[in-house]
Amino acid sequence: MLMARLDLHLHTTRSDGSLPPAAVVALAKKANVTALAITDHDTVDGIAEALAAGRELEIEVIPGIEISSRWEGLELHILGYFIDWHDPVLLDRLTRYRATRHDRNPQIIARLNELGLAVTYDEVRELARTESIGRPHIARVLIEKGYVSSAKEAFDRYLADGAAAYVPRSLPDPAEAIALIRGAGGVPVLAHPSWIDRGNGMVDLCRHLKETGLAGIEVHYSTHRPEQTNQYLNVARQLDLLVTGGSDFHGVTKPDIEVGIGRGQLHVPEKLLEPLKKAAGRA
Ligand code: AMP
Ligand code: ZN
Ligand code: FE
Ligand code: FE
Repeated sequence: MLMARLDLHLHTTRSDGSLPPAAVVALAKKANVTALAITDHDTVDGIAEALAAGRELEIEVIPGIEISSRWEGLELHILGYFIDWHDPVLLDRLTRYRATRHDRNPQIIARLNELGLAVTYDEVRELARTESIGRPHIARVLIEKGYVSSAKEAFDRYLADGAAAYVPRSLPDPAEAIALIRGAGGVPVLAHPSWIDRGNGMVDLCRHLKETGLAGIEVHYSTHRPEQTNQYLNVARQLDLLVTGGSDFHGVTKPDIEVGIGRGQLHVPEKLLEPLKKAAGRA
């Protein structure tokens, strides 16, 4: 039996994950996760199903969200915990964020077509069956059609920033995403800091984000090496930010990452939940 743990970063079929919310909750139960957060991109669609599954399996489900933002050329992802997922301002803004995906995705498809890959946006929509369509869905179509053998190859060759078919999406700045989450009663947390870590400036960046309302940093993450976990723990201590963690499970597009355990080394301690609840006014 695995040690009890949290997993505060999970994607489902309601955005770019490949398993439905109830299946993700069931996997969390198997991994001895005692509390989890569903953090789909730009949508709260999976939360009701996850809450119901959580009641059935006796596992705590935290309503969450992940919002992409851009700051000085960097893509920062902001997680929100304990959001009021019925908040009309939140729902309206998320609808607009999802709409920018429909501006961008056909442009990516056009680039792929120019490169000689026969894919259509209809095929992507058919596979995705959600309004929150992302590059991982496009990657899956490219795999199905045999153009690439993995999502990693799809991103490396075509979809990643700087790759052949990359098109940027219009994104809010982090202050807007943070304020939106706060406005819905949620706790905003910087996701996977390692993605934007260029060797220095992380403390300054987090200090700036904290001034705009950031409450925490995702210290524990599937791909973090022990020294990275320590580094971000120190940033959190220095700036008095909450410590969180999660796997960023997506299913088939990140086949090496499992719910609760990431690549096997992830352990998000249960003791991190109380401070997060306190920050949300739930303790
Ligand atoms: P989008 O929301 O369309 O901008 O797509 C971004 C999502 O793609 C991220 O949230 C990740 O889940 C996923 N992603 C980014 N890079 C990779 C990669 N190399 N392999 C698989 N998935 C990736
Ligand atoms: Zn994703
Ligand atoms: Fe992310
Ligand atoms: Fe994520």
